[in-house]
Amino acid sequence: MAQQDTDERPSDEFVVDTEDCEERETAHRERGTVRPITVFGHPLLHREVKDVTEFGDELAALVDDMFASQRAAEGVGLAANQIGVDLKVFVYDCADDDGVRHVGVVCNPVLDELPAEERVLDDNNEGCLSVPTAYAELARPDVAVVRGQDAAGKPIAVRGTGYFARCLQHETDHLYGRLYIDRLSKRERKQALKMMDEGTPRYETVPND
Ligand SMILES: [Zn+2]
Repeated sequence: MAQQDTDERPSDEFVVDTEDCEERETAHRERGTVRPITVFGHPLLHREVKDVTEFGDELAALVDDMFASQRAAEGVGLAANQIGVDLKVFVYDCADDDGVRHVGVVCNPVLDELPAEERVLDDNNEGCLSVPTAYAELARPDVAVVRGQDAAGKPIAVRGTGYFARCLQHETDHLYGRLYIDRLSKRERKQALKMMDEGTPRYETVPND
C-alpha cells in the first residue's frame, strides 16, 4: 500500500534561490536606498510586527532598500524592523553548509517544527546588526524550513542548512520581536550587551531616545 502523501513535500517544491544571485542582489540594491539600522532598545525590535497584506510597488521598494541596507552593513540577513518598518518581511544573502550562496526574500515567515530525530544542534557563533559588535555562541538546529510568501504574494518554502539555517531562524525571530540574545542565558545576554556598549558599529544606526 502506498504511503499517504499528506505532509510530505518533495524538495523540488522549495524555492530556487541559488541562481543568478549576483545579478538579483545587485539589481535590488542599485534600485534601493541604504537606511540606518535600528538597535537593541528600539521598540520595533521587541514586539511582533505586522503581516504583509499588500504585495505591490511599495513592498518592492522596501525590499530594494533592505538589500541596499544589508549590503552596506555587511549583513547576511535583514528583517524590515531592522530598518524601522513595521512589516513581516526579511531578505537574505547567505551561504549554506556547502558554501552555496542563497539570495531571496520571505514575507510572513513561519518556521516548520522539525521532528526531534531530525534536529541536530549546531553551536556556531551568532551576531546581529541590531546588537552591533557583539557575538555569542548559540545552539540552533542545523536545518530549517520556512514558509511564507515572496514579494509578489506567491506562497514559497525556503530550506536552509548550516549558517543559512541559522539565518532563516534568526530573521524569522526578528519579525516576532525576538533577538538572538533573548535566547542566551542571563549571563551571556548581559555579556553581549556589554560588548555592544563598548563597541562602535561600522554602519549607520538609528539612535534610541
Ligand atoms: Zn539580527
